Amino acid sequence: MTLKKNLSQYFGYDTFKEGQEKIITAVVNGQDVLGIMPTGGGKSLCYQLPAIELPGITLVISPLISLMKDQVDALVEMGIPATFLNSSLDEVSYQKRLTEIRANRYKLLYIAPERLCVPAFVELMRALSVSLVAVDEAHCISQWGHDFRPHYREIPGFIGSLAPRPVVAAYTATATTLVIQEIKELLALQDPVESIIGFDRPNLLYQVVKTGDKLGYITDTITRIFPGQAGIIYCATRKTVESVTARLIGLGFSAAAYHGGMSPEERERNQQDFINDQLPIMVATNAFGMGINKPDVRFIIHYNMPQNMEAYYQEAGRGGRDGEPSHCTILYSPADIVKQKQLIGLNQTSPERQTLLFENLQYLVDYCHTNDCLRKSILHYFGEAADYERCGNCGNCLDQSEMVDITRDAQKILSCVYRMKNRFGLNMVIAVLRGSKNKKVLELGFDQLSTYGLMGEQSAESLREMIMTLVAKGYLVVTADEYPVLKLTPAAGRVLKGHETVFHKKHLLNLTAAKTRSS
Ligand code: ADP
Ligand code: ZN
Repeated sequence: MTLKKNLSQYFGYDTFKEGQEKIITAVVNGQDVLGIMPTGGGKSLCYQLPAIELPGITLVISPLISLMKDQVDALVEMGIPATFLNSSLDEVSYQKRLTEIRANRYKLLYIAPERLCVPAFVELMRALSVSLVAVDEAHCISQWGHDFRPHYREIPGFIGSLAPRPVVAAYTATATTLVIQEIKELLALQDPVESIIGFDRPNLLYQVVKTGDKLGYITDTITRIFPGQAGIIYCATRKTVESVTARLIGLGFSAAAYHGGMSPEERERNQQDFINDQLPIMVATNAFGMGINKPDVRFIIHYNMPQNMEAYYQEAGRGGRDGEPSHCTILYSPADIVKQKQLIGLNQTSPERQTLLFENLQYLVDYCHTNDCLRKSILHYFGEAADYERCGNCGNCLDQSEMVDITRDAQKILSCVYRMKNRFGLNMVIAVLRGSKNKKVLELGFDQLSTYGLMGEQSAESLREMIMTLVAKGYLVVTADEYPVLKLTPAAGRVLKGHETVFHKKHLLNLTAAKTRSS
């Protein structure tokens, strides 16, 4: 087998990373594959090496135009003839490349899916011998994924038009069942060899921090924990990106912004400065990062809560690709949940999908409130069982803070939800427990309930904290609607009857009127 030889000759590696050999061997033997590997797992080699081995050309379909040039440059550097076609090329270079492709000058051709809508391009491909179609970021074909791209739906028809049928290889870092199923169906993978590689990233320290002073937390990380090192701060909106950047620069830090509202030149410049160590801190929306392969990013801070676990895992996964310790922190504030719900509510989409979006958000809300191991919670989301209770290296495992028994409080809350007939949301339940004279509370006669004012001495914030904890622990559920409602689960009965005790971290209960200055 020439695989090992080419691996070292072209790529300079002695061994394969986990899962690579299985996938590469299958592709070279003419089998379809589905490679599910976390970010940084080494997906690109799984189509680059087969491309060298196979007789015809390999077509790589990727949504990441910015990444194509880097990959192609690196391949050419290694002596592998590769090129790309995309909208960044002027007419002359585009035509020149077409001529070269026609003359079989290349082993690898990178395109964005939009290219498949250009009839002349499709004709050219049909005239060539295409050995392999590699679909990168394959979850983009699924509307259940976090990054649906309609043009991905052109791929199956395109493959169908090629004769003989090439090998089809799909790669993604998304492992949820619905997405995987849709990738297989829509791409019509034939008996694919599947490889799922572990999602655990042991060097990443996941944590959730509840603070009223988010900027203070960030500057502390920059100056005390990782001085002078690279980090990314993700914000939910362009406006927040701008304001956080301005405040950091105002404090004398070297930071730059990246979001979709900036000019392509400005974005490109900031991105290059970040990659070339000219600029340590990038403040960005989720527009930043897909395909960025900077190995030494030491911290990824989410200024606002992300919308779902897949997006979070990908964004956090940009830290510590060199295997060295890195921190992945969500700066949690309840206001962010409200904002994310509004964003989802504004989405023009089917009710089915909207429910899914609310459910996905709820998983993240639970993640922010759980006392369990955070790493385990992430792995659980991706369907991977951990062989430990506590990883010993996440915010919750490291947090030695005292646990207090909140069973009595939990009983009060649960019985209040029960008396309100499982029909109201968080704020109403809090209002009733605190004995609010709010018009709606009085109109509905809730001041007559035995639980009215039962927790009047508690701040709304600590009640919210406790209620969300009860959700995270599975005693309550929040329905996945635009106006979510709290409902008891069967497990709540065990707490109400005193058969089960509820613990919570003491310091989290003392949150005074949280100064959530977040935006
Ligand atoms: P992904 O696309 O899955 O996020 P990449 O293909 O960019 O990951 O690979 C991640 C990193 O792993 C890159 O720096 C790459 O050079 C490195 N890598 C890939 N395969 C191997 C290997 N067999 N041995 C050592 N390093 C590898
Ligand atoms: Zn842990």
